[in-house]
Amino acid sequence: FLASDESSFVVNVEFYHMTNLTKKRLWLEGKVAIITGAASGIGEATAKVFVDNGAFVVVADIQEELGLKVVASIRGPDHKAIFKKCDVTVEKQVEEVVAFAIEKYGTLDIMYSNAGILGSMESILDMDMEKGFDRIMTVNLRGSAICIKHAARAMVKRQVRGSIICTASTASIQGGMGPLAYTTSKHGLVGLVRAAASELGKHGIRVNCVSPFFVITPLTISGMSALGIEGTSAIEAIASSAGNLKGVVLEAKNVAESALFLASDESSFVSGHNLVIDGGFTVVDNSIA
Ligand code: NAD
Repeated sequence: FLASDESSFVVNVEFYHMTNLTKKRLWLEGKVAIITGAASGIGEATAKVFVDNGAFVVVADIQEELGLKVVASIRGPDHKAIFKKCDVTVEKQVEEVVAFAIEKYGTLDIMYSNAGILGSMESILDMDMEKGFDRIMTVNLRGSAICIKHAARAMVKRQVRGSIICTASTASIQGGMGPLAYTTSKHGLVGLVRAAASELGKHGIRVNCVSPFFVITPLTISGMSALGIEGTSAIEAIASSAGNLKGVVLEAKNVAESALFLASDESSFVSGHNLVIDGGFTVVDNSIA
């Protein structure tokens, strides 16, 4: 993985160009995955990469119209993708999406808890604790805890040696990479992943997270817009000058490929790990500016 171009954005521990490896074989043949937040951005790219690698994927999201579009574009003749509306903050809906995956595809091998929100750049000095803090923690951290809980329950019950992955962020290891509540939630996610990995190892279940640097998605476009930075080219210019690998922009596909590695049996002894996908940014620099 690290020797190949598949890890092209992992410098410290970065990632690859899936295309070469997918030509050789399918990494997730016959596996069943749920991806939350899969109607857009990183989740959407991962749904495509997982299906291309032989998985059956439940695209779970609050955005039904977009989710159905994603499914239509990737499902193929074997109907390898299906949409299920799911708000990760509502435990019953997560329980239902797990039951849905098992009903439709027979089992659950992979839970990718990817749904997340950015929140606004509020100072701690005048933060709205409900809207500015609790809401972000509820989606990003509590939502992932719920996803891990219900995926793991299903895996334990079926004796599936499953893989659970969360999307953290470079904001999981540094301050100044995003709003305060976002940073707090992503740091918390790493703790959640480690604690769950430590507990679930005895069942053969692995739990890891990926921590991407800046990827241009609706989440970052709205974040940039709030800072007065508008337009794809302006955002691309920032993205390509901000990283350590100057001129290279991290794409959702690169993150998807890292998640693919963690989802697959290729990483069968990797658990409790935070795979940072930042081109080395967090080892050489401290701020985006
Ligand atoms: P995005 O906005 O394109 O996608 C996020 C998806 O999550 C959307 O489809 C949205 O509808 C869904 N979602 C939001 N709240 C939800 C909820 N309560 N239940 C179910 N689905 C919900 O953003 P993205 O950039 O693809 O973000 C995906 C993940 O990656 C997030 O966890 C984000 O924090 C993380 N991340 C993004 C970046 C980046 O630069 N884009 C960097 C690091 C980490």
